[in-house]
Amino acid sequence: PDLTKGQGPEDAITQAAATGTGPLVVVEHVHKHFGELHVLKDINLTVDRGEVVVVIGPSGGGKSTLCRSINRLEPIDGGRILVDGKELPKEGKELARLRADVGMVFQSFNLFAHKTILENVTLGPVKVRKQGKQESEKHAMELLERVGIANQAAKYPAQLSGGQQQRAAIARSLAMRPKVMLFDEPTSALDPEMVNEVLDVMTGLAREGMTMIVVTHEMGFARRAAQKVVFMADGQIVEENTPDEFFTNARTDRAKDFLSKIL
Ligand code: ADP
Ligand code: MG
Repeated sequence: PDLTKGQGPEDAITQAAATGTGPLVVVEHVHKHFGELHVLKDINLTVDRGEVVVVIGPSGGGKSTLCRSINRLEPIDGGRILVDGKELPKEGKELARLRADVGMVFQSFNLFAHKTILENVTLGPVKVRKQGKQESEKHAMELLERVGIANQAAKYPAQLSGGQQQRAAIARSLAMRPKVMLFDEPTSALDPEMVNEVLDVMTGLAREGMTMIVVTHEMGFARRAAQKVVFMADGQIVEENTPDEFFTNARTDRAKDFLSKIL
């Protein structure tokens, strides 16, 4: 490595990442506008390797936009976002490859309707990771086993329950061997009786050391699995706290007010 460049903080992050240390995700002074609307206002967030961060806050606060920015589904207007020391390029082949390091699970399951569950899980590894079909299928079956739906592999998404589809979506993301997983309200479109089967899979992932950013209002999950809660409102991070402190003794009035409405 060229050590002559290792002076500024930029290089410190990049160099630490190259040796597998330092934070996995760094969001620095990030701004995002939709026309006149300023939806991310100087967001700063660091996620360590193996850390689980829960993002919580009122609707319209910018939580989804932040997730989408980390994955470059949305371009940002200011600041920068590093994943494992690297800024995602704006476009091109390199973007697809680096984006695969960031798994994303949405509220709506986004499975391909005309492909089987197994095909949904193998598609990315074959196309983007250039993995062989056999190896991809073997890995996919292991992942479907892990999320508890191996017996659904040959079915189409519409034949599965919402909870099963969301677990398939998680398996599909994991198949890319991401470094970090983003979950954007993964249980809010589910019938209540299916919420726990998805949260259990996520809790398992957290225990195994997966780095995760999870937008959710599921307090039980936050307390069980997260090291940090980030409360976001009006495009800003209003409070960062431990889950226990946040839910019992939030520091900011804004957070207290929000919690009084959802709990
Ligand atoms: P949250 O996920 O916290 O509910 P969002 O990130 O979805 O918040 O939205 C933040 C703000 O940005 C909202 O006011 C929303 O209406 C606006 N917004 C989100 N996506 C777009 C878009 N593609 N175009 C214009 N405005 C958007
Ligand atoms: Mg949202």
